[in-house]
Amino acid sequence: MSAVTRFAPSPTGYLHAGNGIAALLCQQWAQAHQAFIWLRIEDIDHTRCRKPYIEAIREDLRWLGFHWHQEAPLQSQRTAAYDAALTELRQRQLIYPCFCSRSDFRQQAPADGDWQCPGRCALLDAAQAKVRMRHQPCAWRLHRQRALDCAGQPLYWQDMEGHQHTVSLHDDPVIGRKDIRYSYHLAVVIDDAAQGISHVIRGMDLLPHTAIHRLLQALLGYPAPLYAHHPLLTDSQGQRLAKTHVSTALRQWRQQGMTGEQARARLWQWWRGQHA
Ligand code: GLU
Repeated sequence: MSAVTRFAPSPTGYLHAGNGIAALLCQQWAQAHQAFIWLRIEDIDHTRCRKPYIEAIREDLRWLGFHWHQEAPLQSQRTAAYDAALTELRQRQLIYPCFCSRSDFRQQAPADGDWQCPGRCALLDAAQAKVRMRHQPCAWRLHRQRALDCAGQPLYWQDMEGHQHTVSLHDDPVIGRKDIRYSYHLAVVIDDAAQGISHVIRGMDLLPHTAIHRLLQALLGYPAPLYAHHPLLTDSQGQRLAKTHVSTALRQWRQQGMTGEQARARLWQWWRGQHA
């Protein structure tokens, strides 16, 4: 079978230069390998995604000269598949309800604001959890030890250069969020399998999540794609670009009269300046 890849932006704002170079890197790889490209707009997080950005993404990508073969269904239309997987994982006792919230751990959290659930909800028995679920909302966490045992050791994910990376997790990741029911991890793994993705090309920011994705693939019986994580574009202060920075929005460049060709040249120049 020939290679299949995808570009998977989230409609949380206008695409910025970092998203632009990610699309070009994906396209460059696909062209070199005669791969099929899906465009998959990942709108599962309805707290952050906005409808107008969906069409804006398509427009900006067309202008940039990113060509996709087919668009995947929006994640917001695929919730039945995510629910089925959550039910399966729950029935197999690989996920457990977690009632903790960030504010419970604010005191213990390190200065950067990150917090780790100490995992005490994993110790609740089924009856206790059921009682709490009646009056308290919960997230669903993957029980990493049970999941790794079930997947069979050793488990690896593989990068496109042929290196194998051991799957190990430092906490029990949220698979079903309290607010939106699903998590990015669950949706991305189910969609990659449904769309037959053989090669995932994405930013380095997502590297820490790849072990979770590989574990979910093993648990759900999905094939394992190969991965490449590219470095991110940064601004003059070395900071990652954000969708809130208007000056790096592709839409802004377009409105200033830049052509797609000029934008591509500018993106490659910026990229090579930082990563060549
Ligand atoms: N939707 C994710 C993002 O915009 C990318 C997901 C992925 O490539 O796995 O960061």
